Amino acid sequence: MTISKHAAHGPGGASIGRRDVLAGTAALMAAAGGTGTFAAEPAAARIGAPAILRGAPDVAVIGAGAFGGWTALALREAGARVALIDAYGAGNPRASSGDESRLLRLSYGSRAIYTRWAARAQALWEQRQTQFGRRLFYPNGSLRAMSAQALAEQRATFDAMGIAYDVLSGSEVNHRWPQLDMSEYDAVLYESSGGVVKAREAMIAVSEIFQQAGGTALIGRALPVAKGGPGPITLDGNSFACGVALFACGPWLPKIFPQLMGERIITPRREIFYVGSPMGDARYRWEHVPNLADTHTYTAADVDYGTKIAARLHDVPMDPDSGDREPSAFLARQVRDYVALRFPGLRDQPIVATRVCQVEQSDNAHYIVDRHPDLPEIWIAGGGSGHAFKMGPRLGEYLASRLQGRSDDAEADALFALSAHGPIRHEH
Ligand SMILES: Cc1cc2nc3c(=O)[nH]c(=O)nc-3n(C[C@H](O)[C@H](O)[C@H](O)COP(=O)(O)OP(=O)(O)OC[C@H]3O[C@@H](n4cnc5c(N)ncnc54)[C@H](O)[C@@H]3O)c2cc1C
Repeated sequence: MTISKHAAHGPGGASIGRRDVLAGTAALMAAAGGTGTFAAEPAAARIGAPAILRGAPDVAVIGAGAFGGWTALALREAGARVALIDAYGAGNPRASSGDESRLLRLSYGSRAIYTRWAARAQALWEQRQTQFGRRLFYPNGSLRAMSAQALAEQRATFDAMGIAYDVLSGSEVNHRWPQLDMSEYDAVLYESSGGVVKAREAMIAVSEIFQQAGGTALIGRALPVAKGGPGPITLDGNSFACGVALFACGPWLPKIFPQLMGERIITPRREIFYVGSPMGDARYRWEHVPNLADTHTYTAADVDYGTKIAARLHDVPMDPDSGDREPSAFLARQVRDYVALRFPGLRDQPIVATRVCQVEQSDNAHYIVDRHPDLPEIWIAGGGSGHAFKMGPRLGEYLASRLQGRSDDAEADALFALSAHGPIRHEH
């Protein structure tokens, strides 16, 4: 499905222009019951209505990444008229959601809320891939080398929640997966839940399904309108009317809301390397090997793209628009050394692909979801802190409930509130 600038095509092929959106919004908001609420009218009932009634959004979701894409889809499925606006398009390589794959794990130490959310997200990934008719989740489990204290904490959480796991010695790991070498560790947690999810492909799929359900996808740059202005947002400098706007702009949030988010989120650079398998050798594929995390780094098994290895890098700030996306030679060297240590059979294999992206790190690694304190028609969601992609379907479910004036998780509401997040303390 093609997404053109300021125009998207619904499933019936009708083109919805921005003028329609602007012209129809005032009437529609009144019909929908006023700002911030929308009738739970089935999507099908609106398809086929005059363009002026189809085009105006109850909700503008800005950002088609893990937070915004899934929320737009969940809102559309709840009957809302939704515009999903992204400056570069769903799955774009500048976005934090733009890599090939992301890990889904349930182990979060004592932070049980995320274990609960990850388990729910896994169930939703399974449902969604069936709904979408394409595979997005690859259940291969994970191995995690941990300190004795971290392991005890994790076991307590898993035991309390009834989540299955094993604790293996390094030599047991080597015996079970001879393509790995974890012999230096005494205790490794093996979590059979979780696995790998496709990243950019999933976000493109979400955007396509959203449009098939009657949602409108637009390419453009949206910005909040200052207090007292004709809000709530502009699109490429022109006023864009909508009931509520959700800014789910990941690492761009500090640029869009410098005063509010400038000190609450930092965007350090990360480099990812994919190492190829030997020709015809399936041992490193997800069907045959779990993902790893140890004191050096973490990896994801090969899902059609090579074994993924994250380089270790101190926090170097990166601008999501203009940041250089070429990998560093010294980190490639570090990755080769790690491969020789942990995957001896891949020692001589080439790096076949790389990705450079930025994390949007909050002060305490909890997500941020809240209404803007001065602009009541604007919501903000982000601060994924290196662990939000897996939660995408769950984030969509949760955020859709919040934007409809409900909540399905009071603990999350408190944890993700702006007031629970202070400024990042920089190390000097
Ligand atoms: C290297 C790395 C590894 C990670 N590993 C994992 C993992 O294994 N498991 C996991 O769960 N999570 C992981 N994460 C975290 C996860 O990928 C992110 O938290 C998540 O993808 C962030 O999604 P987002 O929607 O907040 O932001 P993004 O995906 O960045 O989306 C924001 C979107 O907003 C758009 N945008 C920005 N400004 C504007 C504007 N003004 N107007 C219109 N559009 C705009 C952008 O184009 C972009 O598409 C990792 C992150 C990184 C960087």
